[in-house]
Amino acid sequence: MLIYKFGGSVLKDAGGIRRMAGMVRRAGRPLVVVVSAFGKTTSVLEKIAALTWKVDDMHVPDEAEPLIRELKTYHEGIVTELFKDSRYRHAALQKLENLFQELDKVVKSTNLPPFEQWHDRIASFGERFSSAVIFSFLKPGFPDIVHTDIRRIIITDQHFGGATVLWDMTAMHVKQAFSSAGGLFLTQGYIAGTQKKEPTTLGREGSDYTAAILGSILQAEKVVLWKDVPGVMNADPKICPDAVHLPGISYQEAAEMAFFGAKVIHPKTIKPLRNKHIPLVVRGLHTPDNAGTTIWDFEEMVRHVPVYIRKERQILLSVFPRDYSFVLNQHLEDLFGLFREWRFNISLVQISAISVSFCIDDPGENFMERVKELQEIFEVYFNRDAELLTFRHYTEEMMRDKLKDCLTFVSQRTRLTAQFVIKRVGRE
Ligand code: ASP
Ligand code: MG
Repeated sequence: MLIYKFGGSVLKDAGGIRRMAGMVRRAGRPLVVVVSAFGKTTSVLEKIAALTWKVDDMHVPDEAEPLIRELKTYHEGIVTELFKDSRYRHAALQKLENLFQELDKVVKSTNLPPFEQWHDRIASFGERFSSAVIFSFLKPGFPDIVHTDIRRIIITDQHFGGATVLWDMTAMHVKQAFSSAGGLFLTQGYIAGTQKKEPTTLGREGSDYTAAILGSILQAEKVVLWKDVPGVMNADPKICPDAVHLPGISYQEAAEMAFFGAKVIHPKTIKPLRNKHIPLVVRGLHTPDNAGTTIWDFEEMVRHVPVYIRKERQILLSVFPRDYSFVLNQHLEDLFGLFREWRFNISLVQISAISVSFCIDDPGENFMERVKELQEIFEVYFNRDAELLTFRHYTEEMMRDKLKDCLTFVSQRTRLTAQFVIKRVGRE
């Protein structure tokens, strides 16, 4: 069993979809193909969700209307370019039409759930659009292909926006759904469903995670993530022109890199595969001759190349108990509990007797509300627009270079990792 996942950045136009079909043709069987929404569709759907929530008449707000139209035109454009045969083209356009009508109904519904649930109802359309188009495109050449609605297979709790997988139930469904004889399956990444069939999502960029869930349950031979980059590099080539390709890295290295902000792999992807020792391969759809990067139990064999990761949109948040009590004895557990509830993503913690600082991903709009809640017990200071720089297998020279023009707020070092919460000063 093989799992191939194709991301939105490679499925953004008809050319990418044709290239994907070529890979499917060449791959062994059985094969599960997991697809993301086309291009930036999910971000547009998120905007639509934000604009339509709490608008409780049957009217789609004026700002949302053009966004829906833009998405429809974009998808129809792909179909028109993709299908030469008009019969298949019409069938694909009809499927899109039906899905857009369904979206319209959801957007206009007056029974409004909490925002995250509303978000998932709307965001889940992206992968439904893309998989419908891709299924229509692949079907004539691969008559045995089975299109599976993953919302009925991956079952989650009700933590909308970043749901947790209910593994036992999911495993049962997955084994049933992907066992039929033909051996070629197409399904959606990122989206899932509750037991009551409410759509949920696994967190932004979560299609990698879907591929890992399926790979781990089906004991796949490997999981391949087809991306628009040739593999994993030791730094982002957009900011480091001398970045080098990493042909093989250990699960541990990959988990650290993903956690600290390397965008090429979703952080949740590693664990399910590492636990079953299934190789994860990151490859470029535009560079099929390059074997990409294999992530596996390499521990002993790999030469450690220095790795540099820059995570932007960070907040350094420092809290001081107003009554001068020790943080460690009394407050840490409560703080972690709150942050968990608020879904704060913490990448670094620094503690002193009467204060503790956290480096967190900027949660956006509701951050100030959270600060107010904290201020009931603590004195709170924060710096927005900070960055977290992480160096693995660091060298002094490398760090000196990258820390130029940076004001360092916090630094931490272990034997393998050095981290700095910084703000850029002067020129970029
Ligand atoms: N389409 C979703 C997103 O853009 C999931 C993914 O691409 O992995 O976040
Ligand atoms: Mg995407």
